[in-house]
Amino acid sequence: STKRKPQRISKLEESVINRIAAGEIIHRPANALKELLENSLDANSTNIQVVAKEGGMKLLQIIDNGDGIHKEDLELLCERFTTSKIKNYEDLETIQTYGFRGEALASISHVSHLTVVTKTRENVCCNSCRVKYLNGKMYTPDADKNAEPKSCAGNDGTQIIVEDLFYNIPYRKQALKKANEEYTRILDVVGKYAIHNAGVAFSCRKIGAKTTGSDIQTSLNASKLDVIQQIYGRSVHTCLEYFENDMRESPLAVQFEGYASGDKFTSKKTTLLLFINNRLVDNTAIRTAIEQLYFSTFPKSPKPFVYLSLNIRPQYVDVNVHPTKKEVYFLNQDLIINEIIKTLQSLLVKINTSQTFSLQQ
Ligand code: ADP
Ligand code: MG
Repeated sequence: STKRKPQRISKLEESVINRIAAGEIIHRPANALKELLENSLDANSTNIQVVAKEGGMKLLQIIDNGDGIHKEDLELLCERFTTSKIKNYEDLETIQTYGFRGEALASISHVSHLTVVTKTRENVCCNSCRVKYLNGKMYTPDADKNAEPKSCAGNDGTQIIVEDLFYNIPYRKQALKKANEEYTRILDVVGKYAIHNAGVAFSCRKIGAKTTGSDIQTSLNASKLDVIQQIYGRSVHTCLEYFENDMRESPLAVQFEGYASGDKFTSKKTTLLLFINNRLVDNTAIRTAIEQLYFSTFPKSPKPFVYLSLNIRPQYVDVNVHPTKKEVYFLNQDLIINEIIKTLQSLLVKINTSQTFSLQQ
């Protein structure tokens, strides 16, 4: 056999790098939406409206009434690693915002046609600015004009319009599920954020005939339980009990609270809404521990519905372990899970005895 020589190494072109990086962060419409929702929440919005067409693949639009973006920042807005949220690495230790990497809008601009309309609240006399972006830069289809923000009528806040997602990544587009299923995922994300952020009004609707699925509309003054009932239905809502445990003064320095179902609630699958420091995340260890607890508590093993909001000292959490931030690492994981299970256990005992008691009467 002939000896093969190693290939020479060369640097990838910027455009290739950016598209590869974008693909890691934006997997599907619901991911893009999660990033955009988090941006709106970071901007102190109290009203967030989502519109999707063809499961968000044709159009994904989000309108908020938040702080808005300075006109002078629009040129940088969609470049990679540009952010208003941290200044140096140490800021991650005390991070209070969802965003910090400055990659979401950049990524979206590399895999879709993106338009931004924005107006800051302090900008009282003027109109909104409207800009199109392509591949990280402001863009105009008009060859003789400079790409720059155009003045237009609009309200305070920001509107992000994402069109033709993955138009330039055909295999990703093909791999996506049907519009209905993508829309279901979008509703799932909006619903969970609406519950966790009760006090912010959310709406989500679809346009176009092809997509089915119910919509979401929550109001500014709805309680968490109201929103849970709206999203998951009355049958869930009536089965839930509140739990809380504040251990901020202990060495673990955690606090958690939420709602959990008892054995009146019957469902074929576990529903876990898990927020760690306000981020919607997955954590297999927590999920498994909760499932085991329910399995061992209830002989007929109904599956749980649990909404759990876990707050850990930011210094003890590493949020930078996953490109989509869907996982976070935290110190003392096993000990904290133990505390959560203990709290849930006593809640289940309480629910059980009160139900048995009322049956016997
Ligand atoms: P990050 O959120 O990590 O900073 P993004 O790419 O998501 O990165 O956003 C870049 C910047 O654009 C943000 O830091 C913020 O200043 C601004 N921005 C994005 N979306 C909004 C919004 N809806 N309202 C106000 N500012 C926004
Ligand atoms: Mg962001």
